[in-house]
Amino acid sequence: METKPEILAPAGDMDKLKIALAYGADAVYAGIPKFSLRTRETAFTAESIRNGIDYVHRHGKNIYLTLNIFPHNLKVDAFLKELDAVVPLQPDALIMADPGMIAAALKRYPDMPLHLSTQANTVNWATAAFWRDLGVRRIILSRELSLEEIAEIHDKVPDIELEAFVHGAICIAYSGRCLISNYLHFRDANQGTCTNSCRWEYRLAYERGSLLDVEARQHPAEPLPAPARGLVLHESERPGEAFPVSEDIQGTYLMNSKDLCAIELLPELIHSGVCSMKIEGRTKSAYYTAVTARAYRRALDAHLAGRPFDPEDLRELMRLSNRTYTTGFYTRNPRQYGENFRDGLSEGVGEAVAGRILHYDPQSGLAVLEVKNRFSRGEKMTLISPGGNLDIIVDHIEDEKGLAVECAHGGGKNVRIPLPSDPGDFAFIRKRA
Ligand code: SF4
Repeated sequence: METKPEILAPAGDMDKLKIALAYGADAVYAGIPKFSLRTRETAFTAESIRNGIDYVHRHGKNIYLTLNIFPHNLKVDAFLKELDAVVPLQPDALIMADPGMIAAALKRYPDMPLHLSTQANTVNWATAAFWRDLGVRRIILSRELSLEEIAEIHDKVPDIELEAFVHGAICIAYSGRCLISNYLHFRDANQGTCTNSCRWEYRLAYERGSLLDVEARQHPAEPLPAPARGLVLHESERPGEAFPVSEDIQGTYLMNSKDLCAIELLPELIHSGVCSMKIEGRTKSAYYTAVTARAYRRALDAHLAGRPFDPEDLRELMRLSNRTYTTGFYTRNPRQYGENFRDGLSEGVGEAVAGRILHYDPQSGLAVLEVKNRFSRGEKMTLISPGGNLDIIVDHIEDEKGLAVECAHGGGKNVRIPLPSDPGDFAFIRKRA
């Protein structure tokens, strides 16, 4: 099945949905209120999802709705009720994971396209064929597959669409098949309430406190016990292999996965049969949605037009906060190189969004900016809009009373700054390193 490759972006709320489309996404995925993973953050309501679907269709794009939890018995009836409520809204597909719910959906709504969630962990062609025979239109592949494995699935089951994640945070577990959050916080990843516990800061501790906790040690002046200077785990069947478990003053991050970034692998993914390039991050910011959608749009368009990859698209992604990037399992098993043991922070390369343009007044040439991060008069900035980037120097800042100020402080307050022209809707200002 040959389908034109699409860029599929996250739509965490109505604003991000519009931004994703403005910055080049062909399709978006959004959570319906109760039965989508990421239930905590979804800002869509039953009413606004209807508006979201209308908006996407008016722009000639596609929207897929996530119903991808694994409901326990108690939730089955409510889940099916929700299914009955969303199908009439005519999304372009439902993203589902639970086999029982999928069977029920196919029986009730045979014409409603179903996409199998990555949570269902499809890792081989036989499973892909099984889902195809059942009536599923698309498989959202497990993130643990190599390009060769994807190509083999496509060769053996060419009549099912394949979607693959190309960007964003990844689980340290098998794509959500994980009970860390449930165990530590009573919030179940497969019920949509993961607390991302794998990214928390952990400490190696004796009963009384951390190895580095001076208070906990009887003789603080003594050197630390040897293991605190570099712990490793050894597995009895693998002599010579050591898995680092280290702790510094901030703790230890032994389960913190790097973020996926496969922007340079789009040609290989297409060659392997992938038709939908999915960006993770419904809970991330509007700015993240804009920058990722545009970078992948540009990279895909360049490839389809026969142009070489533009490294500037990767640089744009590097400027976003990230836990350092990995290409995941696509080209090799990343093993420990897929983890960021050093810190749980998410930083870009010295650049950050300064704010979002809310309004532009052509009379005064001033734009109202909702400030996210502090910046000063005279700073070099980049104006980011769906049309492209423009380097500017902000030589004037006005506060909400119209008084000239030397700097704008973060935290959501508005200021006015001059811009050379109207950047249109959905523009941002980014600080430059
Ligand atoms: S705790 Fe981490 S690995 Fe587990 S489901 Fe949540 S994000 Fe994934």
